[in-house]
Amino acid sequence: MYIFGIDIGGTSVKIGFFKDSFELLEQWEIPTHSNSLFEEIAENIKAYISKKNISFEEIFGYGLGIPGMVKNGIATRCVNLGWENVDIRQEFNKALGYDARVYVFNDANLAALGEASYLNSKWDSVVFITLGTGVGGGIIFHQEVVEGADGLGGELGHMHIDDKYNFTCGCGKIGCLETIASATGIVRLTRYYKDKLPTRLDLNQITTKDVVDAAKANDPLASYAFDEACQALAQAMANLSVIINPDAFIIGGGVSNAGAFLLERIQKYYTNKCLEQATHTKINLAVLKNNAGIYGACAYLIKKKHEVEKNGKC
Ligand SMILES: [Zn+2]
Repeated sequence: MYIFGIDIGGTSVKIGFFKDSFELLEQWEIPTHSNSLFEEIAENIKAYISKKNISFEEIFGYGLGIPGMVKNGIATRCVNLGWENVDIRQEFNKALGYDARVYVFNDANLAALGEASYLNSKWDSVVFITLGTGVGGGIIFHQEVVEGADGLGGELGHMHIDDKYNFTCGCGKIGCLETIASATGIVRLTRYYKDKLPTRLDLNQITTKDVVDAAKANDPLASYAFDEACQALAQAMANLSVIINPDAFIIGGGVSNAGAFLLERIQKYYTNKCLEQATHTKINLAVLKNNAGIYGACAYLIKKKHEVEKNGKC
């Protein structure tokens, strides 16, 4: 049997064609056109399977990730694509033209599932945190994605963590994790301390990578700003450890390119802030990067397939 993983982004849709053994056979992208999106994805998939001589019966199902909040297959809110309470499962089935197995998740939640399944399929509960322009996240609890009552589950970037800087977040609140620990937050912190610490950085045109590279070279300003971001992140992780006590934390997004340098600092502060029993919790860097979502879709459908084989229903 085969599985399609579909990760819908603001500018492009990533499509992955998998075997039900978790093996990615082929992947490609098509542009995101918000007015005829599902029809275009469905047409693209139909053309692909026809070319490969595969029938619909050989496809176990489809997993979709969307850049917004999701609850039971319904996009409760997706600002990028202008959706509010859109039944994605129904829309996609209509476009496919048959009653397929379709599961829909928030993209970061799906990426969490992908990274967790890829790194260690035995993990039961995992927290995935992406440090990009903002801070995203996904929580897998007892191998299920946590959506919560309104699809807000896993919106880790908006955890209130800071009472020192009072930076305003994109969500309108003050002190969210992403105002400090995102790529944007790290640059913001660096500029915030510009008159207090010496630096070799040109602050008019710095990127997060510049700050990380300078921190690696012991630049006082860059080191301090990067350290503050790591402490905020470690604080959020320590808080989460007493809520779901995960098997592992997985750190992804552009900032995770800092690699071991980032991991060592987070580990140091996390160990310091969490309870003794949670100090053994693994902290890993993400490995699938942009493919995490399609792998997550595949992992979820494989789990559903096992349920069907065991119980005869889905
Ligand atoms: Zn916020």
